[in-house]
Amino acid sequence: MLNAKEFRVQAHQVVDWIADYLEEVEKYPVKSKVKPREIYDKLPGQAPETGEAIDAIFQDFQDIILPGITHWQSPNFFAYFPANSSYPSVLAEMLTAALGAQSMIWETSPAAAELEERVLGWLKKMTGLPDNFEGVIQDGASTATLATIITAREKSSGYKVNESGFSRSEDFRVYCSTETHSSIEKAVKIAGIGKQNLVKIDVDEKLSLKADSLVRAIEEDIGRGKKPLCVVASLGTTSTTAIDPLNKIAAICSKYKTWLHVDAAFAGTALVLPEYRWMIEGIGQADSLVFNPHKWMFTNFDCSAYFVKDKEALIRTFEILPEYLKTKTRGKVNDYRDWGIPLGRRFRALKLWFVIRNFGIKGIQEKIRLHIALAKELEQQIAKHDNFEIMAPVTFNTVCFRFMPELENDTEKINSINEKILYRLNESGEMYLTHTKIAGKYTLRLAIGQTNVAKRHVDRAWQLIRKTALEVS
Ligand SMILES: *Cc1c(COP(=O)(O)O)cnc(C)c1O
Repeated sequence: MLNAKEFRVQAHQVVDWIADYLEEVEKYPVKSKVKPREIYDKLPGQAPETGEAIDAIFQDFQDIILPGITHWQSPNFFAYFPANSSYPSVLAEMLTAALGAQSMIWETSPAAAELEERVLGWLKKMTGLPDNFEGVIQDGASTATLATIITAREKSSGYKVNESGFSRSEDFRVYCSTETHSSIEKAVKIAGIGKQNLVKIDVDEKLSLKADSLVRAIEEDIGRGKKPLCVVASLGTTSTTAIDPLNKIAAICSKYKTWLHVDAAFAGTALVLPEYRWMIEGIGQADSLVFNPHKWMFTNFDCSAYFVKDKEALIRTFEILPEYLKTKTRGKVNDYRDWGIPLGRRFRALKLWFVIRNFGIKGIQEKIRLHIALAKELEQQIAKHDNFEIMAPVTFNTVCFRFMPELENDTEKINSINEKILYRLNESGEMYLTHTKIAGKYTLRLAIGQTNVAKRHVDRAWQLIRKTALEVS
């Protein structure tokens, strides 16, 4: 085992390696090239009987583990949504690991609880959310949405399901668009409401939820004796970053007295820009919102910001009080174990604090604006090109497009060519992008959000895409 003196030496080496890695990250193939089981088979079947030197372990990290890493911090990473990081975030994460504090309740680290309260207060102001929202950090948007569905269920049932289980008379219904993230369906399944009671509302040509269809579905359910429990509005869907009309949905939720949850997991970061606040018109009527600083706000995974209006309902749903967790400060402070599912909590507020302070609001705004501008510029170039077409509105930093070979109208053939383009680009190691399907059309999807992405990376990606499309067709 390491002693303090050796730790100091090794830690310096690791930090030097990290600094080199982040400086030279572009030299690695963005998407890992290993085959299934390749890494597994290189690892011994048994744990070592006696301790090994860090030098040896670190060497294996570089030789065995690193080739199996996909480099999310490469500025040539355009896949999915970013999970970006930054220097201040990494520094804070090192401190968090060193402290190893379990922040389940206030007493187990008062600073963790109070910093969390303060920093989420900052975030609330930075993103223009209502004053009466209270924030708490969750591990991910999926967890936050699950907490929402369960809280809505409890509030609506008078906290009876927690107490005695379902009585078969609840008949809850939850609504979202056909484009909504799969985490909603997962939450509805886990919360005991049942996947069949998730009603998927159709979308318009911009892939936004149709408010009149929502009204019709709710009316129909009420007519059949069912209980509309919750509507989930998406600001920035995962497939194409479509935006649901929050204002209209909010009015509908008010009328039918249903919980309104806003899933802004990715695009919530854009709310730091005043020019994007139109998205949350109607937010005053929402009951909760989640967005992930671990996606586009330079705070490394995991860190999801969850805001809820009725904090008492949330706490009443999740609180537990075994003898060994009783404290004298209860009720005077935030014991975050009662604000969600896990008891144990990492000290995640620290990295968010480091990031917001080191970037400043202006610094965050500048980066986000740059990413959006790069996406708009790419959109124009694609739209101008005879053999490419834009497939969905570019509202943030994500561009959905496809290649249209000349004299080819067969959708299946066009799909297959685009799929080939994607695979070839990703196999090249030069860049990494992913795909979606829009009305049966295979669509390439390029998200520009890595912390250090610059114009040259996007220009090169566009060049590679054009070259690859020519080669494939
Ligand atoms: C990424 C994403 C999620 C899931 O987020 P996790 O933090 O990974 O659970 C949910 N909704 C949307 C719109 C997303 O983009």
